[in-house]
Amino acid sequence: MTDHHDDAPIAAQVRELEALLEQKGLLDPRELDQTLEAFAANASPANGFRVVARAWVDGDFKAKLLDNANEALPLIGLSMGGGLQVQTLKVVENTPDVHNVIVCTLCSCYPLGLLGPSPTWYKSPAYRSRVVSHPREVLAQFGFTPPDDTEIRVWDANAEMRYLVLPQRPAGTEHLTEEELRQRVTRNGLIGTAPV
Ligand code: FE
Repeated sequence: MTDHHDDAPIAAQVRELEALLEQKGLLDPRELDQTLEAFAANASPANGFRVVARAWVDGDFKAKLLDNANEALPLIGLSMGGGLQVQTLKVVENTPDVHNVIVCTLCSCYPLGLLGPSPTWYKSPAYRSRVVSHPREVLAQFGFTPPDDTEIRVWDANAEMRYLVLPQRPAGTEHLTEEELRQRVTRNGLIGTAPV
């Protein structure tokens, strides 16, 4: 399973590999189907919300997440393993000085397991071509205007490398529980087209 739209040659290679493994008795095709189905069923923005809320309340988890997200995710029962291909995840933290935005300029690479299916606009040529050169204009179209002195960093994902934005914890949420904090996070916030 991949959310990479230009995946025809890869899909053919995967089928070839599957056939070879089955032929050698190394792979039970039903087991593979179950793994891929489980991955697709679990792919949801609720996973991303959990990651962010935990990072907001647990400084050790946040430090690990920013240092090596693939190793941090299993600490809360998640992983980047989606069947055959493991993708590297880099979590980029918003601060008062830096706001991060993710895009795939080539196609539509996206941390599917943590955010669910990508929104249509993420795959649109307009977003992909404009956000790198004119990030503030694009963010304004989402109704979001970061402070003038905040640097906007745009991260270009690809088949091997996926990004997730860690938004700033909103002011006045000190009294909220981790579960309540999850509900404050939005999918667009994890892409960077919204503040949270
Ligand atoms: Fe892509």
